[in-house]
Parts: sequence; structure tokens; C-alpha cells
Amino acid sequence: MASDTAKGNVVITGGSRGIGGACALLAARDGYGVCVNYAANETAANSIVDQIVDAGGRAIALQGDVAVESDVLKIFAGTKDQLGPITGLINNAGILDKEGRLDEFSAERIARIVNVNVTGSLLCAREAVKAMSTRHGGAGGSIVNLSSVAATIGSPGVYVDYAATKGAIDTFTLGLAREVATEGIRVNGVRPGIIDTDIHASGGNPGRATELNHVIPMQRCGTPMEVAEVILWLMSDAASYVTGATIDVSGGR
Ligand code: NAP
Repeated sequence: MASDTAKGNVVITGGSRGIGGACALLAARDGYGVCVNYAANETAANSIVDQIVDAGGRAIALQGDVAVESDVLKIFAGTKDQLGPITGLINNAGILDKEGRLDEFSAERIARIVNVNVTGSLLCAREAVKAMSTRHGGAGGSIVNLSSVAATIGSPGVYVDYAATKGAIDTFTLGLAREVATEGIRVNGVRPGIIDTDIHASGGNPGRATELNHVIPMQRCGTPMEVAEVILWLMSDAASYVTGATIDVSGGR
């Protein structure tokens, strides 16, 4: 997993676990220096960094809450200082909360989900554009936003708040892609279906991924690596004419 400084450096929000953790390992495989951002689980972030460094790659772990502007500035400044110029952002950090109906949700819960999933993604993309856009003297780059199949089904009775934030991400991907299309930056998204990660425990149902196999045409949930492979393809020059697209990675759902 030798790193290639010509490939540049990628910020992966929520890169310590789940889909983000898989992206970090594959980004290092592909030659990027990797910033593994995390919210609280320092042990998990350091474990990903150690795996990358042990394999000959370059990686750092940087704590920061994507919903807090000063933290986002710190993540981007720290990556530039410690790794070098930023050429990619995987806008992966996202949360949900306990399953239920909208009429049971508190204002605090809704605000937190919107702040992390929407505001956090916009703030990180803003900093990535400032770092990468030819308009700002950058060399270009690529952004991939994490949406969800929830954006297309609405997730009634489970988490309509989360689903609504992912609908916002789909619109944001399209708008930002068109806004920076002549500035050397491609912006795309992926819509994972049900992927086997810890996020389902946050919804109060750790077994959700496997319990729902029967609703998936392929009759199984996906793995973080299966999503990460699509994300790293979108990041790469192999996807040089793809922008404003959001790809379902959902086993047909
Ligand atoms: P996960 O296993 O719960 O991991 C979440 C990651 O995000 C962790 O690294 C966590 O850091 C980090 N994080 C959480 N809040 C953060 C914040 N405020 N600031 C910075 N980092 C934060 O999640 P996942 O299942 O891999 O999901 C990743 C993305 O894919 C999310 O956007 C999610 O909505 C989307 N997605 C997932 C599925 C699925 O079935 N798993 C389906 C569709 C879409 P710590 O380790 O420090 O907690």
C-alpha cells in the first residue's frame, strides 16, 4: 500500500469506522494520503491509521465535529499542514437516532441530525472547494457525498428526519457539481442501501442490517467495502466525465 504523493490527499469525515473506515483503507491503497476524521472514537481512528501506516501509506487521525465550523476549519488546516495539498473529500460523517415517528421526535434530535448530516456536509464541501478550486488557485479534485436510499423511500415510521437530510444531500450534490464544474472539481454522491455497520445500533436496532435481508432484491445487506469501492472509483480519474451523479449501491433496492 505504498502512497503516491502525486495523488494528493483526501479528507474522509467519519473515517474511523463503517463505510468511512473502508474508504480510508481503499484511499490509501489507491495512493492518497488520508485524513481520518472522527467525532469521539479515537481508538477506532488510530486503528485505521495504524493499518495504513503499517502497509506503507500516509495517514493521520484528526478529531472534529463536522457540525462545528471551527472544527471543520481545524480538520482542513491540519490535513494541509500534516499531509499536504488536499485533492479530495469524502463527505461521509452522518448520524441517525432511535427509530420512531416524527410526532415523537424532539427539536434537539431533529436539529442535531440536520446539523451533522446537512450543515456538516456543506461546511466540509465549502472548505474542500476553497482548497481545490482552480478559482482559488487550487489544482482541482473530487468530492463524494454520502446520501442514502432513505432519500428515495422517505423511511416512514423509522427516521423521516434522517431521510430528509439525505434528500437534501442529493440536491446539494447536483447543485455544487454544476457550480464548480469548470473549476476542476467533480462532485458526486452514493446512495447506500442497508450496509452492515454500527449505525443501526444508533437507531436502537443493531441487528437491522441482517433482519431486512428479505426486502433487498439481492437478499442480503451490503458491506462497507462494497460501498467504498464505488466511492473510490468516483474519486478517481477513471470517473473523469462523471459529475452531479448519485449512484445507488443497494443490492437493487
Ligand atoms: P457509522 O458506522 O455509524 O460510522 C459513523 C462515522 O461517522 C464514525 O467514524 C463516527 O466517528 C463519525 N461521526 C459521527 N458523527 C460525526 C460528527 N458529528 N463529526 C465527525 N464525524 C462523525 O456510519 P456508517 O454506517 O458507516 O455511515 C456512513 C455514512 O453512510 C453516513 O453518512 C450514513 O448516513 C451513510 N449511510 C449508511 C448506511 C448504512 O446502512 N450503514 C446506509 C445509507 C447511508 P466516531 O467513530 O468518533 O463515532
